[in-house]
Amino acid sequence: MRRLWQMTMIKLARSQRVKAWAQSSRAGTALATRYVAGSNVVEGVACATQLLRNKQIRASLFYLGEYVDTPELVAQNVAAKIAVATALGDAGLDVHVSVDPTQIGHQLNPAIARQNAFRIAEAIALASRSHAGSHMLMLDMEDQGVTDATLALHNDIRAAGLPVAVTLQAYLKRSANDMNSLISSGATVRLVKGAFAAGADVAYTTRREVKSNSRNLIDLMFSKDAKATGFKPIIATHDDELQHYASQRAKEQGWVKGVEYEFEMLLGVHSELAELQASNGERVRLYTPFGSDWWPHAMRRIGENPANGMLLARSLVSG
Ligand SMILES: Cc1cc2nc3c(=O)[nH]c(=O)nc-3n(C[C@H](O)[C@H](O)[C@H](O)COP(=O)(O)OP(=O)(O)OC[C@H]3O[C@@H](n4cnc5c(N)ncnc54)[C@H](O)[C@@H]3O)c2cc1C
Repeated sequence: MRRLWQMTMIKLARSQRVKAWAQSSRAGTALATRYVAGSNVVEGVACATQLLRNKQIRASLFYLGEYVDTPELVAQNVAAKIAVATALGDAGLDVHVSVDPTQIGHQLNPAIARQNAFRIAEAIALASRSHAGSHMLMLDMEDQGVTDATLALHNDIRAAGLPVAVTLQAYLKRSANDMNSLISSGATVRLVKGAFAAGADVAYTTRREVKSNSRNLIDLMFSKDAKATGFKPIIATHDDELQHYASQRAKEQGWVKGVEYEFEMLLGVHSELAELQASNGERVRLYTPFGSDWWPHAMRRIGENPANGMLLARSLVSG
């Protein structure tokens, strides 16, 4: 049932016809308001400012627009990523920007994506030069066809001395190896379960297996070896058991709460858990999407929990 719901929502997320209708009608407003910070840089940064001021929660800004395959849209995405980095710097906030490689030209030519990723990382370094904080180009991880390219991109940007981090997915069997090599180089890694599916030859295919591998990867991330290399763990999940598991491992291994690791969640999902963790002294960041192309992101969020069907129905009726 859950799988069927998710597949249906993913199909809706990819429908250009439904997207065009939803993004231009009142029907989608409730969805957009819940999962998206606004339609432009100013609204995105205003949301980040309020989260920090009112809830002590940080933000990673994400300009919406994925799997882009025209030079014009790539240029628009890159310009928005650079603009938001500059605006976050001007506001004195963490200059923390999330980027999908396919947003910045990977599908056109990986060399173009590489050039654009360097431009964004340089803009982040420049915008954050005069204030302390956790400043980062965070590379999201897409389907397994781009895993090697994304890791290579991360390693090259890091070798150039620019602020960069990368996401690993617990559903992929290769992630333990990837995690070990990122740990030995003292990188910053965001762990997620993974929003994609793949065959049992390369991936864990049940929720139980993925959760179990998440625990194994958390063990690596909070090991003494990881601490010794300066590795920085980011646990990105709404799964309260996994968050609890990570907090326990951190405590046992002597990681400083609120400083040496963080939790990351999505804007609009389980906000009460994010607020609880922040009030307990944990460092919490929200992945904060902004932009007008919000339909695919919102529908994937709706698909993550069948209980969100009510929200979808209400917003369609109100439109
Ligand atoms: C900050 C961040 C960055 C991410 N980046 C990537 C990435 O780069 N690549 C990638 O493949 N995936 C990414 N993801 C998505 C991730 O892989 C999972 O698909 C998603 O987070 C759901 O898994 P979960 O760990 O929250 O656990 P789940 O077991 O799916 O959820 C835990 C609990 O939260 C509830 N929940 C989860 N989502 C919702 C929702 N939308 N509405 C209501 N309840 C919900 C569930 O019902 C359950 O009770 C990211 C997630 C986060 C939080």
